Amino acid sequence: MLFFEIDETHDPSLESWLDSANDPQTDFPVQNLPLCSFAPKLDSEWPRSGLVIGDRVFDLAAGNEAGLFGDLFRDYETDDFVDATIPFGFLDWDARRKFRSRLVELFTTKATAGDIRTVKENLYPANEVVFYLPVEIGDYTDFYCSIFHATNVGSMFRPDNPLMPNYKWLPVGYHGRASSIVISGTNIRRPFGQNRSDQNAPPVFIPSRNLDYEVELGVIIGNGNDLGEPIPLANTHQHILGMCLVNDWSARDIQAWEYQPLGPFLAKNFATTVSPFIVMPEALAPFRCAAFQRAEDDPQPLPHLYDSGDLKTGGFDITLEAFLLSEKMRQAEMPPFRLSRSSTKDLYWTVGQMIAHHTSNGCNLQPGDLIATGTVSGPGKDERGCLLELTWRGTEPILLPTGEERRFLEDGDEVIIRGFCQREGFRRIGFGECRGRILPADAG
Ligand code: MN
Repeated sequence: MLFFEIDETHDPSLESWLDSANDPQTDFPVQNLPLCSFAPKLDSEWPRSGLVIGDRVFDLAAGNEAGLFGDLFRDYETDDFVDATIPFGFLDWDARRKFRSRLVELFTTKATAGDIRTVKENLYPANEVVFYLPVEIGDYTDFYCSIFHATNVGSMFRPDNPLMPNYKWLPVGYHGRASSIVISGTNIRRPFGQNRSDQNAPPVFIPSRNLDYEVELGVIIGNGNDLGEPIPLANTHQHILGMCLVNDWSARDIQAWEYQPLGPFLAKNFATTVSPFIVMPEALAPFRCAAFQRAEDDPQPLPHLYDSGDLKTGGFDITLEAFLLSEKMRQAEMPPFRLSRSSTKDLYWTVGQMIAHHTSNGCNLQPGDLIATGTVSGPGKDERGCLLELTWRGTEPILLPTGEERRFLEDGDEVIIRGFCQREGFRRIGFGECRGRILPADAG
């Protein structure tokens, strides 16, 4: 399988002529090169496909127009690059490898002086552009793939029987809401909802008191599948455009009252935040790992959820961190406080299994669909990817450096999710940030 291959584009000694790409702290060295959709701040004319390197954004449409990619995109018009990063998802794997290899060439001294000049003409400082949702997201599905998260949450609500009987047989998920997905940096208004904390009284309609975040990895679909044509597990990776960070904002009080029997609804669909950058699977090749090691007495997956290749390399070791910055901390100019650090290698189900399961009944995925993993929690206490778990439903508050306590999110709190991959012998690559600040509930 070509997409697992490590090649010259992963060489850690590669350096760019762009100094900021060689900074050891950057998320975006020449080995990464994630996609985005952007527009120069003063130009409202065009959000278009870009590529992030160091502290710059490269205009891919202009690069293509200038002939930098030869005939790789000969089937696409310049318009296809405007407001979308999808053309890259349509490329077959061989073409994608050529695309990546050409990009690496263009950003290192292997390129001709003329090509480098053309690239430089189409580079923008990242802090002077506006980022948009990297793709038009048609459908959004959220899974529940961390067995540590599921066990923690389950044991709060059903101490004797934390995991439901289906958990080890299929990746549990629900259909989320695409219309309320927002780009990192968008403020989040505290939602109103029905609260029935007092079991002896009727529910009341009030602003959520138990507002939470969920640290998740997002998968953006490139190529879809036809209705009625499931994607076999072994082929699922050909349908991935790339990965991003996701914060699945959750109102736990609303959720507790509404979720039975059909699952989350208004507790989740008021907002979901995604990071602006799509890290392509080619960049993640060195950070693939084995699927989760099932316990001896766990069931083996059914045949449509089993593939020996997926078992060997279907996992990803992507570190995810959540930080909190309260209003007080912001005023005191304190750095954000780290709440957790976990890894997607601890997910019980692989990304491939999520896609195979999703389409196993013939359901069609479409270009730009977002699939999220569910809260990524690990076995440790500091690996819990939401406040519900970290504060054990509010019973063990977190102490912030200002002396403030947190059970759930307060107005003015900002949640920042970061993601990165690190492995001996390879260049560290990152996902950038996924952030959002809580605004008070609308008084009107
Ligand atoms: Mn979630």
